[in-house]
Amino acid sequence: MSPWVGFDFDKTLATYDISYDIEQVGEPIKPTVDRLKKYLAKGYDVRIFTARISSGKDNRNPKFIKSIIEEWCVKHIGRKLPVTNIKDHGLLIFYDDKCVQVEPNTGRIFGDLSKEEELLGI
Ligand SMILES: [Mg+2]
Repeated sequence: MSPWVGFDFDKTLATYDISYDIEQVGEPIKPTVDRLKKYLAKGYDVRIFTARISSGKDNRNPKFIKSIIEEWCVKHIGRKLPVTNIKDHGLLIFYDDKCVQVEPNTGRIFGDLSKEEELLGI
C-alpha cells in the first residue's frame, strides 16, 4: 500500500456554501493550499478526498464531477491530483473540516468538542 496524504475538498481546500450546485467549486483556501504544496514539494502522493464523487450524488456523473475538481487543481495547485472517496491503509494524514482527532488506542479526543456535542445532543 503506497503512502499518501489526503486533503478534503469542500471547506478545507476550497470555500463552500450550501447554496452551491454540485458542479460549483469555491475559491482556494490559501493556508490549506500552501500546506498541500509543501507535501508535493517533498514528493508526497497527495490526493483530494471528497464525497462529491460518491456514486449517485445529485444524479451527476462522478467522472464529470471529478474532472471539475481536477481542473480546479490545475488552476490553483498547478497540476492535476488524484481525486478519491476511498480511504485505505496507505493514508498517512488527513486534513478535513469535519474530522475529530482521536488519540490512537485510547479514544482520547484532541480539542474541545463541547459545543459541537451539545448541538448534536450528545
Ligand atoms: Mg469538507
